[in-house]
Amino acid sequence: MPASEGSRVAVILFGAPGSGKGTQAKVLQKCTGFAHISTGDILRGHVAAGDAVGGEAQALMEAGRLVSDELVNGLVRERLQRPDCAAGFILDGYPRTVRQAEVLNQLLSSLKVASVVVHLSVDYNRIIVRLASRRQCPRCGAVYNLDSRPPKVGGICDLDGEPLVARDDDREDLIRRRLEAYEQETKPLVDYLARSGPVYKEVNGNRDSPEEVAEEICRLVGVG
Ligand code: AMP
Repeated sequence: MPASEGSRVAVILFGAPGSGKGTQAKVLQKCTGFAHISTGDILRGHVAAGDAVGGEAQALMEAGRLVSDELVNGLVRERLQRPDCAAGFILDGYPRTVRQAEVLNQLLSSLKVASVVVHLSVDYNRIIVRLASRRQCPRCGAVYNLDSRPPKVGGICDLDGEPLVARDDDREDLIRRRLEAYEQETKPLVDYLARSGPVYKEVNGNRDSPEEVAEEICRLVGVG
């Protein structure tokens, strides 16, 4: 465990869209009790609520582009104040630019939180297939894959019977746009993250079994 006993830990799940960050965050949340903070989910919540933050983010999200650093940094800063972050938290989809990483670094040191960076590395061809066949339950958030993890009854959530939907930005043209944004703005962060914290580890996310990947991550975080 990188953090000294009793200190708070931030697990930063880093990787391209479709690398499995959300799936792994849910597993980690179960075994650590840490809060799961997905900036994509927070932003989608604002878009669904039709508020000012949603208004600022919506067009960029629909175009597969990143929303502004100021907006996302503010949302994360606010989110980390909540009591469910007291033991630790898992960041999924943040930071995504060098500026976000710098702001996060300052925030973590002021909060005296140690970080563990897990880089989920997955081939782009695999990501494109994965995202195009991803379906989600709009009610409970459970995620399925039509090829590797289909629901028991076609198109229906196993947990609550809700019809499954594809995310609006999981269209092939937008998947490619999101991968471009990753390549240009997020991937350059790898060096920064590898240098900035005590623990940086690349994990092979190409495996079809998310459980195998989760086992490796839980071991890294010290809860496996
Ligand atoms: P995700 O669910 O993480 O794939 O995020 C969906 C979309 O939300 C992204 O394509 C961006 O438009 C936006 N988004 C999520 N997190 C961030 C972030 N950290 N910085 C900028 N934009 C973000």
